[in-house]
Amino acid sequence: MVNRVKTLYELQLIDNHLDELEELRGDLPRAVNELKSLIDEKQDLINEKEKIKKDNLEKIKENEEESARLNTNLTKYKAQLFQVRNNKEYDALTKEIDHSEETILALQSQNKELEEGSQKILAEIDEITPEVDKLNEELQIKEEDLKTIVSANEREEVKLESRRESMAEKVRKPDLNTYMRIRKAKGGMAVSTINRGACSGCHSMVPPQRQLEIKQNKRIYSCEACGRMIISADVAEEVKSKFTI
Ligand SMILES: [Zn+2]
Repeated sequence: MVNRVKTLYELQLIDNHLDELEELRGDLPRAVNELKSLIDEKQDLINEKEKIKKDNLEKIKENEEESARLNTNLTKYKAQLFQVRNNKEYDALTKEIDHSEETILALQSQNKELEEGSQKILAEIDEITPEVDKLNEELQIKEEDLKTIVSANEREEVKLESRRESMAEKVRKPDLNTYMRIRKAKGGMAVSTINRGACSGCHSMVPPQRQLEIKQNKRIYSCEACGRMIISADVAEEVKSKFTI
């Protein structure tokens, strides 16, 4: 039983070191991720606006071509006016001419709106682009910082990770599950020890009778206050004294 307790505590010590390495990175990984998603968001917005601008330009071109076609027709109709033989033909032609002229005006007015829209979109893109550039610069600096910290501890971290893996295999599955659950809930420390009669995790006093039981390592005890697995100071000291990185 004492070995079962020792293995758990050794796993805790390895995790403590890994947590320390992670702490060195501080806020950087989160900041990097946040910057990345902010940049993506803004870039998506730019792409969306570029797409609208492109569609506008295509529509403008289409309208211009249609206007040119109608203008050619107009010239033709106007020339035909001199050759009409009766009122019916005249009316039909003037109707065509009016219709073409109205359509040309409508197309011109639509193009004006589209051009104004494009100008507005262009101004919006011009406003967002420097923001993205600035964020990208910020991201680059943060990524460099993170890289420096990570590479400084890389060897130690890789070593600790593989040691953690083999240590975790030595821990009984249900113990490991409990350990992981408490570790997650308590932000790191799943195994506490007795320190001056109190739980080292939550500082609640442990009744003397329970302290004696814990000392005997007959099973894995839990702190009644915080729920951490609690082990005797003797075992903790022994494991610590043998523990080297
Ligand atoms: Zn406790």
